[in-house]
Amino acid sequence: RTAYLNGQFAPLDTLQVSVMDRGFLFGDGVYEVIPVYSRQPFRLTEHLKRLESSLAAISLPSPYTQAHWAELIKTVVAAQDFDDQSIYLQITRGVSWPRNHVMPAEVMPTVLIYADTLIPPPAALIEAGVTAVSASDIRWLRCNIKATSLLANVLLRQMAVDAGVAETVLFRDGLLIEGASSNIFVVSQGEILAPPPSHLMLTGITYDLILELARQHGMPHRVCEITEQQVRDADEIWLTSSSKEVQAVIRLDDRVVGQGKPGPVFREMHCHYQQFKRDVMRN
Ligand code: PMP
Repeated sequence: RTAYLNGQFAPLDTLQVSVMDRGFLFGDGVYEVIPVYSRQPFRLTEHLKRLESSLAAISLPSPYTQAHWAELIKTVVAAQDFDDQSIYLQITRGVSWPRNHVMPAEVMPTVLIYADTLIPPPAALIEAGVTAVSASDIRWLRCNIKATSLLANVLLRQMAVDAGVAETVLFRDGLLIEGASSNIFVVSQGEILAPPPSHLMLTGITYDLILELARQHGMPHRVCEITEQQVRDADEIWLTSSSKEVQAVIRLDDRVVGQGKPGPVFREMHCHYQQFKRDVMRN
C-alpha cells in the first residue's frame, strides 16, 4: 500500500516519523479525510480549501500549493489496487528538540498521505437508519479547526460504541452542535434545519453539500440555532460526513425519532446525494 511521507512514496508499513514529532507529542497538526469514488477524489477543491484554513488557523504555512497537493493525492490514488478510497492527509509542525510548547522558528512540517479502502454505507443501513446517544460537548472552543488533537472526540465517540449506537450527538449550552465525528441536521415540519457554522463545530464538506443540494432542489431549509428540545421533538435527525454520507438517526437516547424509521425528507436528500455522486463520477 503506497503512501507519501515528506517527499517520498513508499509502502505505508515502512514509513517512520520521529518520536519528537510535535504531532506525536502535542497533537500539533491538522488533517483531512477525502473520499475517492472510482479513483476520483470527491469535493477535492473544498477539502483542500478547508485544509488551507486549518493550517492558517494554527499558523502553519502550507508546504505545498493546491496544485501540488492535488498532484500528490493523485499519485497516491493511482498507486492503490482498489478504486474506492479514503485518503488520509496529515500535516504536523514537525520535529523539534528539545521538547517545548513554543512553536519553533524553523519548521519542517511532517506530511503524510495514505489511502484506505472506502466502503460506502450499505443499502440496508440507509433503509434501517442508525441510533445515537447524546452528551454535552466537552471539547475546546476551536472545533472549526480540523486538528489532530482529538482526545475529547475519542472519548465522546467511544460513548456511542459503549452504548452500542452509531454516534454521539453533542449539545452545548442547550444548543445542538454536531456529532463526535459528523454533522447533524434535523427536519421539523418539513423544513431542514442546520446549526450555524461557528468556532464550536467543524463545518463538514458534506454539511455544505447537503445545504447546496437542498438549495438546488428547492427543499425548504434554514441555517439557525437549534435547541436541544427541537432536536428531541424533531421529525427527522440526520448525520453527515464524507465517509458516512447522509444517514437517518431513528433513535436518540431512549426516544424514537419521528416514526422510528428514515423519514421522507431524508429519503429525498439521500437520493439527491447519490445522484450528485453519480453525476460527478461521470464527468
Ligand atoms: N464534525 C466532526 C467533528 C468530524 O470529525 C467530521 C468528519 N469526520 C465532520 C463533522 C464531518 O465533516 P466532513 O463532512 O467534511 O467529513
